[in-house]
Amino acid sequence: MTTRPATSPLAWNVAALLTESPGSTRDYLVAGVIIDLGDDLRLADPLEGRVRLSRTNRGLIVQADLDTSLDTQCSRCLRDIEVPLQLHIEEEALPSLDLQTGVPLDTSAEPDALRLSDHHELDIEQTVREAILLAEPIAPLCEPDCPGLCAVCGERLTSGPHDHGEDAIDPRLAVLRALKLDDDGADQAE
Ligand SMILES: [Zn+2]
Ligand SMILES: [Zn+2]
Repeated sequence: MTTRPATSPLAWNVAALLTESPGSTRDYLVAGVIIDLGDDLRLADPLEGRVRLSRTNRGLIVQADLDTSLDTQCSRCLRDIEVPLQLHIEEEALPSLDLQTGVPLDTSAEPDALRLSDHHELDIEQTVREAILLAEPIAPLCEPDCPGLCAVCGERLTSGPHDHGEDAIDPRLAVLRALKLDDDGADQAE
């Protein structure tokens, strides 16, 4: 059995741990790791934390506690903000080869399980990516009571409601203003 160096900062060769008895553990520090999240999502801070691998009779339990933050925008005022994330991952990783014979295992019974590679390498980058996407807030805010944007001119309302002359009105927003004037009870045009 040949071993390869780990190719990802979130991958480890676990061949030695797999030879040990259930309950054996390995701890790994994660520091300064940036991963690609695809789409238009980006980490603002690298992943920092620790990963513990515990041998079970089937494979490994992966426990990861990682801190990072996301570059995103306030959902009300659209200003750029960083949202801190604390990830807690606990997932079982199963071998793809029989550990005694080296024969490939039938993985169809558990197609979604995290699998070790043929070289007994565990790579949790995709697992971490999915945890980040799950932890991403749906409507992040720059502050809990962010007042958002003015419905008339589109400016940030950080200094409270403001007046502006008719000239300042964007024609695309004039319709919103007309609606607002028709209905004094509706202060928020959301
Ligand atoms: Zn805001
Ligand atoms: Zn305004």
